[in-house]
Amino acid sequence: DRILDEHQNMDDMDIEMSLRPEYLKQYIGQSAMKRNLEVFIEAAKIRGEALDHVILHGPPGLGKTTLSNIIAREMEVNIRTTSGPAIERAGDLAAILSSLEPGDVLFIDEIHRLPRAVEEILYSAMEDFFIDVVIGKGEEARSIRIDLPPFTLVGATTRFGSLSAPLRDRFGVQLRLEYYDIDSLITIVHRTSEIFNIDIDEDSAIELAKRSRGTPRIANRLLRRVRDFSMVKNETSVSLETTNHALKVLEVDPMGLDPVDHRIMNTIIDTYNGGPVGLETVAVSIGEEVITLLDVYEPFLIQQGFLERTPRGRRATAKSYEYFKQGAQPKVFG
Ligand code: ATP
Repeated sequence: DRILDEHQNMDDMDIEMSLRPEYLKQYIGQSAMKRNLEVFIEAAKIRGEALDHVILHGPPGLGKTTLSNIIAREMEVNIRTTSGPAIERAGDLAAILSSLEPGDVLFIDEIHRLPRAVEEILYSAMEDFFIDVVIGKGEEARSIRIDLPPFTLVGATTRFGSLSAPLRDRFGVQLRLEYYDIDSLITIVHRTSEIFNIDIDEDSAIELAKRSRGTPRIANRLLRRVRDFSMVKNETSVSLETTNHALKVLEVDPMGLDPVDHRIMNTIIDTYNGGPVGLETVAVSIGEEVITLLDVYEPFLIQQGFLERTPRGRRATAKSYEYFKQGAQPKVFG
């Protein structure tokens, strides 16, 4: 239950539904990506065609699910939502595809986790809007062709590199979501505060934005926790003092790093002389799964310039020595 986990938890689920912007104009930040998408949607609408297939990629919590819903709304079509691990057999996907209406959006989250046999069905569906379905077994087996209406597949993945080339190449529109800048996160904190009826000082909003790891999901989650502290103190508006206190209790440091981030960097710097060291070795040293380090911790540490990926392993940067070793790190974790 890490407060800074970018993945959705049970607590987030219902709340996020009420926070999702519905139209592109309300979607904060990611301006380069938004400008492109706006043109593609407009052009498809002028042509009266389904939008080309879209792949959204980037770390979790940056708004891929939100964006897929916006695409359907802007195109004025229905959306069907599923995920890679939920589709176990080719027949499951065939059933979904054959129930689509012309122009519909089919959103597949975690598309890199589709079983290979299921993925192969997608090739002809995406390219020529038909699928071949095998009916019967053994000598009785025969293949029938089912024509599909033109539709838009929107795939989301945190691992663009894990997609097979044939699948990747069939997405005409490839959009990468970046970590959000501070200004966008401040706007998101204010938007969420308004929806939740929370009064918050500007300084507190800035502080929350700075500590949210560039991720709207985390900004919204921290805001909810900070609000709890503020309510208990009977404040009319969330103050900076309360915000700082809450974040300290939650073990979120001024850069948005938590104790695991600190353990990773301290291990590389102290035990392995700053590296290069293999990520597996670091994982064993601190007792975390390699996959967690790879998906959750490392991308943000790299983006912040604390960690470098080299052919011989991970290396601590000069910036990380400054932050973790020269007293720049406040003693929030004892
Ligand atoms: P995952 O990959 O884990 O499914 P995701 O990238 O699909 O995550 P979302 O569920 O779309 O992320 O977004 C997480 C939360 O952040 C939602 O509550 C959403 O409303 C909010 N959010 C995301 N992007 C934006 C944005 N650009 N503007 C305002 N709110 C946003």
